[in-house]
Amino acid sequence: MSSPAEPVLLRTSVVIIGAGPAGLTTANVLRAAGVDCVVLEAESREFVEQRPRAGFIEEWVVRALDRRGLADRLLERAETQGQFEFRFDGERHTVPTAQLPGRRHFVYPQPLLVTDLVASYVDRAAGDARFGVRDVRLHDIDGERPAVSWTDPATGVRHRIECDFIAGCDGARGVSRAAIPAGKTLLTRYDHGVAWLALLAEAPPSADGVVFGIHGSGFGAHMARSPEVTRYYLQVAPGEDAANWPHARVWEALHTRLAAAGARPLTEGPLLEKVVLDMHNYVVEPMTYGRLLLAGDAAHLVAPIAAKGMNLALNDALLLADALIAHYRGDDSGLAGYSQACLRRVWQYLEFSQWLSEVLHGASSGDRFRAGTASARLRRLLGSDTAARAFAGLYLGEEADL
Ligand SMILES: Cc1cc2nc3c(=O)[nH]c(=O)nc-3n(C[C@H](O)[C@H](O)[C@H](O)COP(=O)(O)OP(=O)(O)OC[C@H]3O[C@@H](n4cnc5c(N)ncnc54)[C@H](O)[C@@H]3O)c2cc1C
Repeated sequence: MSSPAEPVLLRTSVVIIGAGPAGLTTANVLRAAGVDCVVLEAESREFVEQRPRAGFIEEWVVRALDRRGLADRLLERAETQGQFEFRFDGERHTVPTAQLPGRRHFVYPQPLLVTDLVASYVDRAAGDARFGVRDVRLHDIDGERPAVSWTDPATGVRHRIECDFIAGCDGARGVSRAAIPAGKTLLTRYDHGVAWLALLAEAPPSADGVVFGIHGSGFGAHMARSPEVTRYYLQVAPGEDAANWPHARVWEALHTRLAAAGARPLTEGPLLEKVVLDMHNYVVEPMTYGRLLLAGDAAHLVAPIAAKGMNLALNDALLLADALIAHYRGDDSGLAGYSQACLRRVWQYLEFSQWLSEVLHGASSGDRFRAGTASARLRRLLGSDTAARAFAGLYLGEEADL
């Protein structure tokens, strides 16, 4: 019998750290292609299947998942939205996107997507996933035989698994990125200088799809999620304590910031989630070091201003899985180009996020220059078909090489 001092030794081709959208998508595609892998996740299966976050998925990402057989339930259940709305100066301005590039986005809460991906990998494909693992450590990532070790939560026994590659899909607070020695990658950070109070209300949507409320007292947003649940955002000061926003204050601010002539009144409901998110970003370049390949939030955090993080995580995962499969078939070009292929889209989405951040936050910045240029951007977007098309291409996303 093993003791904590004598790790149980295992061997696989790819160890995937993290069972979020990036890790689970990578695992599913590898498993379907017959590439051995093991997923290590710090939380329980129930926890990852219920963690609320994203909901907005670009159409081309859905099609890419569908080509791998990973979007059946999503296509059955997700709503699609073909318009969004800006509200400012008491008026509503709708942008119909159904005729524009990107066309639609799918609304499918992240917990449902994660639940589908876990079921596909663990239940249907009998893939190896270890949930609740503790103290995950990476070893020899710049050598020929990297390894990952962890403590089994039930027995306290330490396990060590050797592999060819480690996929670091463990999000913004994981251990993979930190395993890269200092100076081997460049970490770039950018802070938008605002925070959002992210809210999930147990209340039906009060508008069709996405509504951006631009107001002198701060930005507010409404995003339809399901017939029973609606996501709302309120701009708040960076570092704000969510406890300063009791139910009545939240709804008063939402009514004010989303008010417009002819708009349906907001249907209030209990707040299921209320967290403050500082709007900041980072990017790791390159996304690889030795045998460690980062994907998703582990490699780049994109503030949820333009709802891009999960879309990028899924894009990385599909590129990563394809590159690894090609490696086992004798072609290393995908692995060599992996980081660059991901980062091209990451930088496009970061730029778009920064652009949209100014549009949404300029009016409340207290700076006449920022307010004036934000209003000019908005007028151009709403007054020019060319500008609306360019906006839709980035907001709704396109598969085209960026
Ligand atoms: C409020 C909010 C709204 C959002 N809305 C959108 C949206 O509409 N559209 C969109 O595209 N994006 C959105 N995002 C961003 C999106 O949720 C993330 O980009 C996405 O979850 C990234 O997926 P991931 O797999 O890279 O990382 P994660 O989902 O963070 O998964 C990482 C996994 O690794 C595990 N892990 C961490 N550390 C360890 C460790 N040491 N060992 C083992 N496992 C570990 C974690 O438990 C987790 O399960 C939103 C984010 C927030 C916070």
